[in-house]
Amino acid sequence: MEVSAFIARNADIPFALSGSDMALSDAFGRRIDYLRVAVTDRCNLRCIYCMPKGVPSCAAPGTPIEKETLECLLRVAVKQGLRKVRFTGGEPLLRGDIPELVHSAKSLGVADVSLTTNGLFLKDRSRELKEAGLDRVNISLDSLRPERYARLTGGGSVEHVFGAITSAEAEGLSPVKINVVPIRGINDDEIVEFAALTHMKPFHVRFIELMPVGEEGWGTERRISSSQVMKIISASLGRLEPVGAEGTSRNFRLDGSKGFLGFISPMSNHFCGTCNRLRLTTRRTLRPCLFSNEEFSIAGVDSDDDMEAVLRRVAQSKPIGKGCRPSIPLEAMSQVGG
Ligand code: SAM
Ligand code: SF4
Repeated sequence: MEVSAFIARNADIPFALSGSDMALSDAFGRRIDYLRVAVTDRCNLRCIYCMPKGVPSCAAPGTPIEKETLECLLRVAVKQGLRKVRFTGGEPLLRGDIPELVHSAKSLGVADVSLTTNGLFLKDRSRELKEAGLDRVNISLDSLRPERYARLTGGGSVEHVFGAITSAEAEGLSPVKINVVPIRGINDDEIVEFAALTHMKPFHVRFIELMPVGEEGWGTERRISSSQVMKIISASLGRLEPVGAEGTSRNFRLDGSKGFLGFISPMSNHFCGTCNRLRLTTRRTLRPCLFSNEEFSIAGVDSDDDMEAVLRRVAQSKPIGKGCRPSIPLEAMSQVGG
């Protein structure tokens, strides 16, 4: 999209900052109110599409953000309109202090605090996280079959993930969202089973298009587009009724279902035009876009004024979206948080 067309389409988004409007926005007028925080690049799994062979689990191991710097960032960002934080990684539950980080975010005024996890350690920690202020969780689950799940993840137990889903639901970390990456020849025969879960439970089952990772761009030929996934589902389960978009997810429901189906299409239908997010990586850098190589360090930044200056620079460097489709394969996803 041309910049002028983008601006015309988003004419209702405030542009310049005035004294009374301290909201963070980028050079194209997009409001930035969402931060994804990768709290560690360590992981207890090694999913084939996230850390394929040849991609070291920690390409250049980071020094994950410490609580004090994160609090400084959040305090400043909340003043500028931040309303949503998602903790991710690596596996965020490998950080012992994750409840404290959640608590900090909530008490600093972040309205919506969520976490993306593989779920292996969630069952026994759902209550603690809920009490710390966590609003909801996304649990990644790419197969419902024990042996296949173990193969896909490098040894994970699907039973533990089922336990995590049950405990998250019981503690009210809802809606529980289940992230599925459909991969041709690997789990595409389970797409309908995943979708049918929404008949029984008020889950949001979200299908995420496979993104290429690593030097070899693992997965390029195995990607199944969102529209192909939708066709597979509607051929077996009937019409998908659109129920609007939520962030990057286009949502639908099946007739009579309790939950929703979401389709996240970073490859086939990118959402750059309405992107509202920044990412904090495990190298303590802010990244304006998942697919950009530009990063801004916040290591050692300890004053609110300096942090505000970095935030504004990062926001201003956010690309418009043209060219966002990743032509260069990504490095380890676990450092930028997916
Ligand atoms: N370890 C946590 C987990 O697995 O949920 C959080 C980090 S993981 C990097 C975050 C999300 O990124 C997961 O839902 C995962 O499925 C997704 N992801 C990882 N690699 C991906 C890829 N190559 N393409 C699409 N999604 C990917
Ligand atoms: Fe670990 Fe999550 Fe990547 Fe799987 S997707 S290897 S669980 S960081």
